Formats: sequence, structure tokens, C-alpha cells
Amino acid sequence: MRHRHLSYADWSRAEYAKAFLSLILGEVSDGEHIKKLTERLSKLYAPGVAYPLNFGRSAIRIALKVFGTRRPGCDEVIIPAYICPSVIDTVRDAGFKVRFADIGDDLNIDPSSVATLLNDKTLAVIVPHMYGCPARITEIEAVCQAARVFMIDDAAQVVGIEHEGRLLGTFGDVGILSFAQSKTVVTGVRGSGGALLLNNQDLTCDISKACHDLPAARHRGQAFLHFLWNYMWLRYTGTSGYYFARLHDALHLGKQEAEHLACIANLDAGVALAQIDRLPLIHRRKVLIAEMYFEELKKLQEIRVPQYAPGRYLSRVMLLLPPGVSADAVRTSLKIAGVETRVGYQPPIANERSFSSAAGIAKRLIEVPSGSDISAIDVQKICTAVRDSLRSHSSVGDLSHETYQTPYQG
Ligand SMILES: *Cc1c(COP(=O)(O)O)cnc(C)c1O
Repeated sequence: MRHRHLSYADWSRAEYAKAFLSLILGEVSDGEHIKKLTERLSKLYAPGVAYPLNFGRSAIRIALKVFGTRRPGCDEVIIPAYICPSVIDTVRDAGFKVRFADIGDDLNIDPSSVATLLNDKTLAVIVPHMYGCPARITEIEAVCQAARVFMIDDAAQVVGIEHEGRLLGTFGDVGILSFAQSKTVVTGVRGSGGALLLNNQDLTCDISKACHDLPAARHRGQAFLHFLWNYMWLRYTGTSGYYFARLHDALHLGKQEAEHLACIANLDAGVALAQIDRLPLIHRRKVLIAEMYFEELKKLQEIRVPQYAPGRYLSRVMLLLPPGVSADAVRTSLKIAGVETRVGYQPPIANERSFSSAAGIAKRLIEVPSGSDISAIDVQKICTAVRDSLRSHSSVGDLSHETYQTPYQG
């Protein structure tokens, strides 16, 4: 049986070559790639200025700190209820209160929910584009401007995609990028990179002061090998990752450091440059794969690709199962059929009224393989397996009651 795996990165030889050269030359932490990446990103996101960092969350931390000094009485930050949990932790660790906004069908923050949460304590709104699907950010930008509230364009999952003629990441006061696993530009895991994009020039002084002279991230050589072993080569290395970790500990290599603010390491910056060179190809493949899933599934009314639109880039393909179907049961039968899946993010507290839609949608989402090794035949097989599993886990009668409206149901 052919196994169909999730993918963590779309890498060519160029990414490996850049990384191994940094290792061989002993330029893992510092080196010329950092400056080159700074220039490359600043050019891409002009007239904004880019500051490459070790994490996307480092950019959020720095931005919130700067915002806080500008509006001392404001301590609430609005974020969507469906989001990467590290964002929730980052906001709280920075000393702010999190207010959760609901999401729409596209899994993105709902502008009307943002508007109802705004008050005179609101410091900022964080607007992510989940799995690359653009949020309704122009509307939210206008709302934030009118309310004199800061806005972070959280483009962690998407690099180089335009929306209404502007690159995602350039809306609001600052933008953020992340280069962690399963994003668009991937250099590794946990601290492999990210960037702060400065859009509002009034903040230039404070932001550049906070980002300048940050040390380059350390221990990235071991982190890189860990990424290869436990993510990129997982299908070959299997459970040996466990022994690898034991060996790693026994040799006292790279102890887990507390998350600290740092600039991106040279090794990771080199990989990021190679990834940015290949962005058009990476985008094109993902557009095609989303299209193939949509075409396969539109015959089955009950399963949706909720973020799909013709020609739209999606970094990951999420399927929305019908209400009442257990995502766990579907995932188990897919696993037996050789298809690896993942669940979506879990909303923080279930049954909260302010985000009932997020709570309802999140538990019905499964991620299916969408890496560059996935062919049209694979997509067909995966979709057949999903359908078979749905048939066996719910009575067909139940499904026929449900009608699903997809804007692009062809
Ligand atoms: C991954 C992610 C982040 C955080 O990025 P890190 O580099 O892991 O800190 C922030 N926002 C969103 C939407 C993300 O997906």
C-alpha cells in the first residue's frame, strides 16, 4: 500500500545545499545570509522594512510591547478563536488580555465579531490568514483605523501572496511572518525563523530600537538535524527519532532553551533565501492541489474544502466534515487506508458564546496531505478513502438531509 503523508516543507536541493554549506563552514549562527535575507524581505515588502527574527511570535511580542508604550491604558488584544495556540500564549505572556473573535466559514476572523469586541481598552487586533486564505483584512483595517486601534497583519502562514493588490503582511501597523514547519516558507521547527514587517512609519524608531542588536539564534545546527530526522525524513527514520533524542540528551547537545528574542540564525536565513527563490513554484503547486481536492469532492455534497476559491493558494488543505460525524473515527479509517491526517486548532474554551462558530467548525476539520509529492491519483484515492469512511461512520440517510452551500460548488 502506498502511504500518503502530510508534508512539512517543499524543499529542493538548493535548501539542503545552503544548510549543509553553513554547517560545514561553521556559519550556523552568524553569516552573510542574515543581511541578504533582510534586504530581500525589505525589497519584497517595500516600502515597509523587514526585521528577520527567530520566531513569528517574537515579532508579535515586540510589536505589542511597542504598542503598549503608545497606549498605556489599553490592555486587550483581539484575536480569532481559531488560531495557532502560540499566539494566545504570546499575547498573555506579554501581559495583555485576550479577547476572542469568532470566525467565518473561511476559518478566518469575522470583521463583525471584531467590531463588537472593540472598546476603549482595546490595544490591537491580530488578523491571521489561516492556511494562506486571505482574511477580510481591508474591512478590519478600516475598522481599526476608525477606532484608533493597532493592527497586526499576521501573515505567518503565507509569504508572497497578494490580496486586493497588496501583499499579505503589509496591512495595518506591522506584519509578521513565520518560517516554521508547514507554513509557506519553511526553514525548520521551533525558532527556525520569522520576521517583523514594519508598515506604520510612525513606529520606525521604537521598532528598530527593539530589533537592532538582537543576537542571532543559537543551537540551530542541532535543531536543523532534528528537523531533518523527525520531520523531513520521518517516513524513513520512523521511531528512531526517539533514540536520536536520547542520544542527543546523553551527549548534552543543545539543551532546550527558554524562548528568547533573537535574530534569525544564518543557516535558517540561507534556507529562507532558497525558499523565497522558489516561491512561484511552491505557490503554483499548492494552487493545483487545492483545485484537485475541490474537483474531487464537489461530487460529494457532504464534504467541503471551506477555504477553496479558484486560483487561490492554500498552504494546507483542510476538509470540513458534516456535522455529527466524528473526525476521530474518519481519521482512524484514513490511517488504515495509509492516509496521514491532522486535526485543526482547538478553540480555547468550548461553548463560549462569542465564538460558537469557531467551536463548531474546529472539531469537524481534518487536514489531508498536500505536499509536492501528492499527485492527482493520490488526491483521488484520498478522497475515495474519506468518502468510504464517511459512509461507514454515518447512516447515509443523515447525510442526505444536509445541504452544503459552497460559493464555488460547480
Ligand atoms: C505559526 C503561527 C504563528 C507563530 O509563528 P512562530 O514562528 O511559530 O512563532 C503566529 N500566527 C500564526 C497564524 C501562525 O500560524
